[in-house]
Amino acid sequence: MPSVSATTQSSPKPLSLLVLGQGNDPHSERGVECPGDLPAPSDPGLVARARAAKEALGDKVFVLGHHYQRNEVIEFADVTGDSFKLAKEAAARPDAPWIVFCGVHFMAESADILTNDEQTVVLPDLAAGCSMADMAALHQVEDCWDDLVEAGVADVTVPVTYMNSSAAIKAFTGRHGGTICTSSNARTALTWAFDEKGGVESEGKVLFLPDQHLGRNTWARDLGRDLDDCVVWDPHQPMGGLTPQQIRDARMILWRGHCSVHGRFSVDAVETARREIPGVRVIVHPECRNEVVSIADEVGSTEKIIKTVAAAPPGTKWVVGTELNLVQRLGQMFPEQEISFLEKNVCYCSTMNRIDLPHLVWALESLVEGRVVNPIVVDPEVAHWAKVALDQMLALPGETSKD
Ligand code: SF4
Repeated sequence: MPSVSATTQSSPKPLSLLVLGQGNDPHSERGVECPGDLPAPSDPGLVARARAAKEALGDKVFVLGHHYQRNEVIEFADVTGDSFKLAKEAAARPDAPWIVFCGVHFMAESADILTNDEQTVVLPDLAAGCSMADMAALHQVEDCWDDLVEAGVADVTVPVTYMNSSAAIKAFTGRHGGTICTSSNARTALTWAFDEKGGVESEGKVLFLPDQHLGRNTWARDLGRDLDDCVVWDPHQPMGGLTPQQIRDARMILWRGHCSVHGRFSVDAVETARREIPGVRVIVHPECRNEVVSIADEVGSTEKIIKTVAAAPPGTKWVVGTELNLVQRLGQMFPEQEISFLEKNVCYCSTMNRIDLPHLVWALESLVEGRVVNPIVVDPEVAHWAKVALDQMLALPGETSKD
């Protein structure tokens, strides 16, 4: 593997607020500076430059584009999808030495974990982090586990960690016998985790990281269980802000994390859409809050949203609660349907949008010149345990493919 400058390591480090684009904190997902001599965004030749660089690199480069990326970037993607699908696509191209990941940092980490040692994953802008992944730092999660030990419940608790997490948190999950999940297999993952401790009717618990909403929605909506069985673990409070009794009584210990995009969709927006668009169907992502998810017509991962809309008859009216780039693309892909964005007060995912054409051109042209910029390399020990948790997900019943 070529020499690298960006590493992900497991050493605990207290996190202070770090504004995107300032400072350098390789221990966390949050934004870091992106050095480099970028082309000007106004350069009218950017599309031609990207095309020429990609052509020059040929099969040596494989460009992955997450569904939430801008169109100007998606245009150059060899494959599009969500995070796990893209990581698997990268692993399925072992002959491509360079994987350019147009997505956010935790996704590039997963791709590095799942690809071989001869492949290097490049993130065109190192400031493309994820606010949700940032909400669970390794030292916080380890402190939480120590508290669960103290409360006498760690041995009946299984960590289930959403794909949208740093490699360090995935590794924690692997070390503690848990599994990773995606938004499409969270139900299967939860069922497996409870089965590990005697079944969902037993005294077993799940520590769900880092998205409280996906955990709560899966428990209540998919498994039909009681919301009162959930508690929220606040990493900024002693003992998570809970009493030992609350911890012992809980079945789902939900980490206090959320997506800064999906967490903003509101009940009011759903009601407004239903009032203003007669016959509209509401489809939202399970990272949305439970009160929104519980009144939606359909709930699903990005892949499910795309498939559901694609299968609908012409003239179907939708309001969609997920990232705006994808909703706009759905409108372009299915002009025979009427597709609207759910919430006028929600904007693009700011970190996904860090990847733009200038950064992509810079990354590709650098590779043409033989320079690997912004490589993402996970510490081998972290990668090992993260892969244990990812492999556990692959071994879940019925899990032959995920999005
Ligand atoms: S949409 Fe939400 S979960 Fe996805 S990268 Fe952006 S902040 Fe993270």
